[in-house]
Amino acid sequence: MKYYDKLIFELSREGRTGYSLPSCKWTAAVENLPEGLKRKSPLRLPQVSEPDVVRHYVNLSNMNFGVDTGFYPLGSCTMKYNPRINEETASHPGFAGLHPLQPASTVQGALRICSELSDWLCSLTGMSAFTLNPFAGAHGELTGLMVMRQYHISRGDLKRTKVIVPDSAHGTNPASAAVCGLQVVQVRSTPQGIIDIEDLRPLLDDTVAGIMMTNPNTLGLFETEISEIEKSVHGAGGLLYYDGANMNALLGKVRPGDMGFDIMHLNLHKTFSTPHGGGGPGAGPVGVAARLAHLLPSPVVKKNGDGTYGIEEQPDGAGRISGFMGNFGVLLKAYTYICMLGRENVKFVGPYAVLSANYVKESLKDKFKLPVPFLCKHEFVFDGLKDEYAGGENGVTTLDVAKRLLDYGFHAPTIYFPLLFHQSIMIEPTETESKETLDAFIDAMHRIADEASSDPELLKGAPHNTPVRRPDETMAATRPVLKYGFGKTDE
Ligand SMILES: *Cc1c(COP(=O)(O)O)cnc(C)c1O
Repeated sequence: MKYYDKLIFELSREGRTGYSLPSCKWTAAVENLPEGLKRKSPLRLPQVSEPDVVRHYVNLSNMNFGVDTGFYPLGSCTMKYNPRINEETASHPGFAGLHPLQPASTVQGALRICSELSDWLCSLTGMSAFTLNPFAGAHGELTGLMVMRQYHISRGDLKRTKVIVPDSAHGTNPASAAVCGLQVVQVRSTPQGIIDIEDLRPLLDDTVAGIMMTNPNTLGLFETEISEIEKSVHGAGGLLYYDGANMNALLGKVRPGDMGFDIMHLNLHKTFSTPHGGGGPGAGPVGVAARLAHLLPSPVVKKNGDGTYGIEEQPDGAGRISGFMGNFGVLLKAYTYICMLGRENVKFVGPYAVLSANYVKESLKDKFKLPVPFLCKHEFVFDGLKDEYAGGENGVTTLDVAKRLLDYGFHAPTIYFPLLFHQSIMIEPTETESKETLDAFIDAMHRIADEASSDPELLKGAPHNTPVRRPDETMAATRPVLKYGFGKTDE
């Protein structure tokens, strides 16, 4: 433990200060404030010097793990490196200083960015129109489902309220459908890990609003029966929704629009490299086929005949899903990322992501159980250590492996998701890691497997050298302590 670790939250000393405010020019105004609005006692703030504050935050930041500190193979999250130039663009005063209520004539550059980004997303996905307004993938799902519902309602087809969701789906899929007031029906996966068409067919009646699919799915497998599924769902009058969180696997290679999807979202913070984790900020643009474009939410950016841009309402659209035009800073970062890659290089994103994942999978499958042993796309799932390493009933678990990885300086993969297996470990290396980094991770995983059989207690007590070890995860989720308090009152 470093000397400062002991001090880190107990720095306040009566009378110590790190700022000086100019004298108040508004004494008369302050005196005239209504009594009820005046503070009765001084605000209880920590009393600290400037070096105390600087060291406090720098030390805290050093305890953190991020994609800038190390390899972050968190499955389903696409933790690729976020190039610095993205930040440079987003913090440019010409963009950062804009106000969302400025007249369109004064923000032509920003509107052009929105318009071009939408066009590029259309050409990358095969969709006809995009709204950039949703703030995250889950928000995009809700928006897309609102469009789906609106489509059926606009045709007077009111019984269509059923949404089919595969058992391998991300939890946000059924949650979004439920929030949208639709009923969720599950479709099973085959032992090969893709949608079971025989299970799907009987669900396709005249109450189906649509199906939500992730392709490649959360097992990292391409849904090879997609053409058949497309024909059956459209044949039954339903729409196909594409959860684009896994688009990194296909970027530059295959387009959801060409697979027959009608509505989709992208997670710009995943596929298009903007920093995420800890809840945001994100962006979940929603793309639709031409016949649904008028149903996208307001406001929309329109290019006028004379080359200028305007902001318009969509009278038939799915309402408003955000205050303005989405998280503009995130849109700028994604725009910059696409610009920097260019048409030529964007083609390599998917293939390199797939190569990295298969390399790691093949290098580890002698020690970890690989329930679906096929060529994967950008990620794959192990079902824990092989029995000869895990050591039976009360042996080493996936949680222990994940915790031990922290000691080796890696972020843990996603664990216990998807729910199809009891000991899921979901690994997504992304295309931005070097072979040396992948090899170091593979080496650590091999060592952990060997430790599991030679010294299981070492893993059960891990992590041994992180600032926080094993927090109570239920308490952390249900009763998080998000601030350091002085006493109990909330002032
Ligand atoms: C991340 C993810 C989502 C949700 O996206 P958020 O941006 O976190 O709301 C949905 N589906 C899949 C498959 C995902 O990986």
